[in-house]
Amino acid sequence: MLDICLLGTGGMMPLPYRFLTSLMVRYNGHTVMIDCGEATQISARLQGWSFKDIDVLMITHFHADHISGLPGLLLAMGNADRSEPLTIIGPKYIEKVVNSLRVIAPELPFSIKFIEISGTEQTFNLFGLRLKAFKVNHNILCYGYSIELDRKGRFNVEAARALDIPVNYWKVLQNGESVTLDGKTYTSDMVMGEDRKGLKVTYCTDSRPTEQIVENAKGSDLFICEGMYGEKDEESFEKAKNKKHMTMYEAAEMAKEAGVQELWLTHFSPSITKPKAYIEAVREIFPNSIIGKDRITKELKFED
Ligand SMILES: [Zn+2]
Ligand SMILES: [Zn+2]
Repeated sequence: MLDICLLGTGGMMPLPYRFLTSLMVRYNGHTVMIDCGEATQISARLQGWSFKDIDVLMITHFHADHISGLPGLLLAMGNADRSEPLTIIGPKYIEKVVNSLRVIAPELPFSIKFIEISGTEQTFNLFGLRLKAFKVNHNILCYGYSIELDRKGRFNVEAARALDIPVNYWKVLQNGESVTLDGKTYTSDMVMGEDRKGLKVTYCTDSRPTEQIVENAKGSDLFICEGMYGEKDEESFEKAKNKKHMTMYEAAEMAKEAGVQELWLTHFSPSITKPKAYIEAVREIFPNSIIGKDRITKELKFED
């Protein structure tokens, strides 16, 4: 199960009624956070989700609305007596940027391991999750991320019995390892069925629409994407194009093309006070769209 919370839905600046876009995902006692703008820790606190235990923090790009909350978050984690190391993944120079911000948070009771993304796509296997960064198209280097949880196939009891494999070795085979008994080797694929559908969440902000985003969003149970502007006029479209953002309709078109299960829009311009006003028009393109709301949550579960 993946436990998901969109901590904020704003772009550019936090507002009294709208925090900046950031995502928290919990799985099996581990926590992943994507982006940390100003005041993100307050939204996590309002949600009651502990940020003390964040294992991996992924930064999309170095614009203030996505990273300026980091020193405060690190200090709060330190004050909560965290001692386990923290992994931070981000674009080129992530270590330099974070260390510059840490001039005001120099002493922390935990270490930070940095992973600098190289190239246009990179995958990291951490804590049983597959985290993938993919380059998007913003006015500075920026990455989208997908978080995937794989699901193994079913264990074939009949096959294991037919092969006379003692029950106490079944678990080993279920874990993908091999067993050698009386000179005979049994491999996992002899008793395990095809991998089943896992879970996938894709997060993308800030960017123009791209083919690479569509490709990476494919197979997502949930696609969280920026929809900075909602007016359906030429002016909004030009603004999105020039500032390297996208409109809600462009996000919906990508969701449709990628065939995702559900779309959550986020990163609204401060000029949009009622993003919900655009929902009908968005749903004409992609029916299963939701206008993101601060601290909206969802539990993604494996299919039966
Ligand atoms: Zn932004
Ligand atoms: Zn930006």
